[in-house]
Amino acid sequence: MLSNLQNYYIPKTIPGALALLEKNSGSILVVAGGTKLVQVDNRIVQELVDITHLGLDYFKENSGEIRIGATTTLQNLIDNKLVKHSPFKILSQATQLSYSSKMIRNVATVGGELISSDSLSVLYCSLLVLQAQIRIVGGEEFALAINIFLAKKGLGGGLLLETIIPKPQTEFYTGLAPIFHQNKKVIICACAHIVIHEGKCQDVRIAITGTEKVPQRLPEAEAVLEGKKLNSKTIEDTSDTACNIYHPIADTLASEKFRKEASRSVVKNALTQCLQEFEDQFDA
Ligand SMILES: Cc1cc2nc3c(=O)[nH]c(=O)nc-3n(C[C@H](O)[C@H](O)[C@H](O)COP(=O)(O)OP(=O)(O)OC[C@H]3O[C@@H](n4cnc5c(N)ncnc54)[C@H](O)[C@@H]3O)c2cc1C
Repeated sequence: MLSNLQNYYIPKTIPGALALLEKNSGSILVVAGGTKLVQVDNRIVQELVDITHLGLDYFKENSGEIRIGATTTLQNLIDNKLVKHSPFKILSQATQLSYSSKMIRNVATVGGELISSDSLSVLYCSLLVLQAQIRIVGGEEFALAINIFLAKKGLGGGLLLETIIPKPQTEFYTGLAPIFHQNKKVIICACAHIVIHEGKCQDVRIAITGTEKVPQRLPEAEAVLEGKKLNSKTIEDTSDTACNIYHPIADTLASEKFRKEASRSVVKNALTQCLQEFEDQFDA
């Protein structure tokens, strides 16, 4: 509980919000959906800046990118027609997997999720293979590649404005494969992205949660598939490499040994979905 709360501001402009954050830094926090903050026990925070009236609840699309505003709710992300269908559907699937409660998804925001999610975040995993960028404003405005943002963790008093997802000009295929604990939480999840040009894999991207401190790409496994045909043999080789090179975490959900073996299976399943998507277009 924020037991020492004294002021609640609802600015209408981004400069207005930033001025409040700068003036009262140390005792002020941003609030979006409030579903994480409601669980925080903190006596230092005296003021909150509500950012839900800054016009950051949007989806914008142009030929080169999709932009998702920070206060877009998780449910709106799941339902948006742009990300509900292939190949961006892994974004929608990832968000749905992270949350069992629609009530919370209707309130929690994409920005709040990106700031507060942990090493098992499936949303981060999907954003890694989509090579998303996060636009931030603090003293200045800048964009960070999602992997840098993940490594940095923390905005140092700034505001997360939006998530930018590039739209590749070539056709690409994606897959997302989780393994669940019996309590329905995701133990480990892999996401994959592949371009197939003249029958060969290009721009192979594979990311995984639950193996290190933050979700990460698997460059050594990606290299195994790059330039090869996508078939059951190359998928097997790639998932074996993924399993061999990574050192998983152990926690209350699963042991290190379980996660290591599971990494093979989730990478294989995510790549098989890419193959399926590729083959389906010829059946259609
Ligand atoms: C009943 C319940 C169930 C939940 N279930 C789940 C679950 O299944 N899975 C799960 O992952 N989480 C769950 N949560 C946690 C919570 O919903 C998530 O962490 C959520 O994504 C937070 O989003 P929010 O918009 O509510 O963030 P807030 O609570 O508003 O903010 C969270 C943090 O992010 C900062 N912040 C928010 N937006 C910005 C921004 N644009 N720029 C800078 N800083 C910002 C805030 O200052 C705060 O530190 C649950 C919470 C509750 C209460």
